[in-house]
Parts: sequence; C-alpha cells; structure tokens
Amino acid sequence: MNGAFDLTGKVALVTGANTGIGQGIAVALAQAGADVALVARRDPAETKKLVEEAGVRAHVVMADLSSIEPCERIVEDVVAALGRIDILVNNAGIIRRTDALDFSEEDWDAVMEVNLKVLFFLSQSVARHMTGWASQSGERGKIINIASMLTFQGGIRVPSYTASKSGVGGLTKLMANEWALKGINTNAIAPGYIATNNTEALQADETRNRQILERIPEGRWGDPADIGGAAVFLASRASDYVQGHILAVDGGWLAR
Ligand code: NAP
Repeated sequence: MNGAFDLTGKVALVTGANTGIGQGIAVALAQAGADVALVARRDPAETKKLVEEAGVRAHVVMADLSSIEPCERIVEDVVAALGRIDILVNNAGIIRRTDALDFSEEDWDAVMEVNLKVLFFLSQSVARHMTGWASQSGERGKIINIASMLTFQGGIRVPSYTASKSGVGGLTKLMANEWALKGINTNAIAPGYIATNNTEALQADETRNRQILERIPEGRWGDPADIGGAAVFLASRASDYVQGHILAVDGGWLAR
C-alpha cells in the first residue's frame, strides 16, 4: 500500500485484540502495513494468525486491564519487542446491564476502571514514550480511543457504561488539546451497533433487536471489519490535521 494511508513500518498497539472490534481493527492496521502488538487477557491466537497472514509482525502481551498496574509494563514490553509505538488503540471495554434503580457500586467501578481509568493511564504511558520521538522527528504518534453512541446519547440500563463512554469523549478532546503540539493526534471512533460479545444480549432480545434495526439507515448490525477503515484513517498521515474528533461509524444511527 502506498500514499497517505500506508502504515508500513509503523507499530500499533491494540487492547482487547482477541475478539470483536479489537480484532477487526488489528487486522485492518496489519493489512495497511503496520506491525501489531495485541494486548489481551486471553490468548489472542486467532487475531495473531490473521495479523501474520497480512505479512507483518504480531506480538502478544498478556495483561488484565481491570487496573492500571500493567500500563508501564505493556509499553516497555512492546518497545522491547517491536522497537517503538506509533499507534495506540484503546479498545478494551466492558458493559454491565441493570436498571439504574438497582445498579451496584461493583458494576459502576468495574466498568469505569477498564473503560475510562485504564484508557487514560495507558494513554499517558504511551504518550510519554511518543513524546520522546514524535515532535523532533516530524513523525506523529496516533492515539485512537473507542467511544460509543453513548458518548452522545444516554442509553438504557447501562449507567456506568454511559458515564465511561461520555468520559472517553471528553478525554479524547483533552488529550488532543495537551498533546497536539507534542506530536500526537488523539481522536476517537464511536461505533454504532456492532455484532460482538458486547451486544449479544441486545441481539438476542427480539424487541430491542427490531427497534435497533428499524433506526439504522443501513438496515443491519455493523461488523467489526466496518470499523477498520476509520482506524486506518486515524492511524495514518491522512489524519495529521484531525484532532479531538469523535468519528461515528454507525450505519447512519446518529443521523436519524
Ligand atoms: P468484545 O468482543 O467483548 O471486546 C471487548 C474486548 O475487551 C475483549 O477483547 C475483552 O477481552 C477485552 N477486555 C475487557 N476487559 C478486559 C480486561 N480487564 N483486560 C483485558 N482485556 C479486556 O466487544 P466489542 O464490541 O468488540 O468491544 C470493543 C470496544 O468497542 C469496547 O470498548 C466497547 O465498549 C466498544 N463498543 C462496542 C460497540 C458494539 O456495538 N459492539 C459499540 C460501541 C462501542 P475478553 O475477551 O477476555 O473479555
């Protein structure tokens, strides 16, 4: 691949890379030429195989992102194995569904920790590494946060998820504000309704499934591969003047 979207020689780090959107993004970045570090708490063997089939290097880092403890170690491990980190995709995330009246502190803390706190502190660790080379070399680091429709909307029965993903929108802008002049672009992708483990309960609920499909102009659930093109754009030189943007990839959901 040549031109502004080419990622040949770049190194990407993708969290939650064993399934779903993380796998779709890792494969798309690999097909655009990037070596990919796969961070997961379960062996991402399938993603590793798909990345290597694209003709680039895959490096697995096993880590549980339910606390910030592994953040520094992940960066050191990836830099030692692949040389440096050009692209960070903060994709790992969880969701807990319960009526707001009954929602527990445990479900609040668990979701906020993975979706928001670890996203920030891993970004901080990677940004400290990127600022070591980015502004002097003229090359730019790229941070891509995975937001949600609930970065824009309230949602139902998912209070900690809505709080965390609204927070991701705010942090994306803060990071852009602070790190743009240090050679880093920070943006987010807000996936619409994508068929993954995260949305299994919605897909299985006949009424919610029908209501969701009726509102999507594209008339179908998204596939993890649908997110890949946006990730390649935000990881590449083509997006060097894009900062703090939350790019919806939603089959038109928000247009409705
Ligand atoms: P998914 O298949 O469940 O993927 C979530 C990934 O995060 C999995 O790889 C999961 O690993 C990983 N993860 C969760 N907790 C972790 C932890 N403590 N340590 C390490 N890894 C952890 O669902 P998905 O839909 O692809 O979700 C990916 C991202 O997209 C999430 O941030 C989600 O909020 C966001 N999103 C999804 C949709 C959608 O419609 N699907 C829409 C908007 C945003 P395990 O497999 O080990 O659990």
